[in-house]
Amino acid sequence: MPDRIEADIEALLRFYADAGYSDALDDEPHDRFAESAKRVMPRQSAAEPSTQQARPVVQTQPVAPPAIFAPAGQPTIPAEAQAARARELAQAASTLDELRGVLDGFDGCNLKFTAKQTVFSDGNPQAPIMFIGEAPGRDEDMEGLPFLGRAGQLLDRMLAAIGLDRDQAYLATFIPWRPPGNRDPSQLEIEICRPFIERQIELVAPKILVTLGNCSARTILHTKANLMRTRGTWTVHPTAGGVEIPGMPTLNPERLLQTPAHKKLAWRDLLEIKARLKEA
Ligand code: URA
Repeated sequence: MPDRIEADIEALLRFYADAGYSDALDDEPHDRFAESAKRVMPRQSAAEPSTQQARPVVQTQPVAPPAIFAPAGQPTIPAEAQAARARELAQAASTLDELRGVLDGFDGCNLKFTAKQTVFSDGNPQAPIMFIGEAPGRDEDMEGLPFLGRAGQLLDRMLAAIGLDRDQAYLATFIPWRPPGNRDPSQLEIEICRPFIERQIELVAPKILVTLGNCSARTILHTKANLMRTRGTWTVHPTAGGVEIPGMPTLNPERLLQTPAHKKLAWRDLLEIKARLKEA
C-alpha cells in the first residue's frame, strides 16, 4: 500500500479513536456518504426555475431544533418533538413486554443508531427494590443486559452485601442505548429517554428505588445538588399516576472502580437501604 494511503488511514483511525469510537459495530462497512445523500431534500427542481428575484436572505424564523439523524429513507422529526412522541408511546404501554417492544421500535434517539442493541433490564420485576444505572457500556451493549463486566461484578457484590442477588432485585439503566465511546448523554438525549424509564418504574412499581450515579439521581429523583451531597438521603420519585416511591441516590459501581476510597460511602448507603427494605 502506498505510504500516503497508509498515513491517511492511520490519521482517520486516530480521529475516530479521539472522537471516542472504540469499537467496530458491524461486520460490513456502511457508506454513510451515500446514506446522507439520499436524505437530502431536493431544494428546487431544475425544470422549475425560480420566478423570484434574488435578494439578500434575512433570517426571520427561529432556528429549528436539530433533527434526529435518522437512517436513510426514514423521516426526520425535530429532536425536541421526539420527547413528546416518546412520552405518548411509553404511556400507551401497559406491560413491561409492551414497553420493551415500543423501545425496540423507537427510532427517535440518535444513540440508538450507534448502539448495537437496546438494553432494557435484568433481574426480577416482582422484586421490592429497583436499581437504576446510567447507560450501557461496551459489555452491556454486546449482551443487551445492564451491569455486566467489572462494574456488574461489583454491583453483584454490593447486592450480596445486603443479602440480595439478581433474582431479588430489578436492574435497569435510564439510557437504554450505549453512547458512542461511553460519553455522557446530552440533555436532549436524557429528555427523549426519560419517558421510557419513568413508565418502566411505574409498571414495576417497586417499594424502593436506588439510583446509581449523579445523572441517574438528577433524572429520576430530581436532585439538584451534587451526588456527594445527596447520596445516602431518602427522597421520592413521583410517578405520572401520582404515587411517590421512596428513593435513594448512591454511587455508581463504575465510579467506585475508579475511586475505591468511596466504597465506604457506598457501604453506609447500602446499610440504610437494607434497613429500609426490612420495613418495606
Ligand atoms: N453499567 C450499566 O449498565 N449501567 C451503569 O450505570 C454502569 C455500568
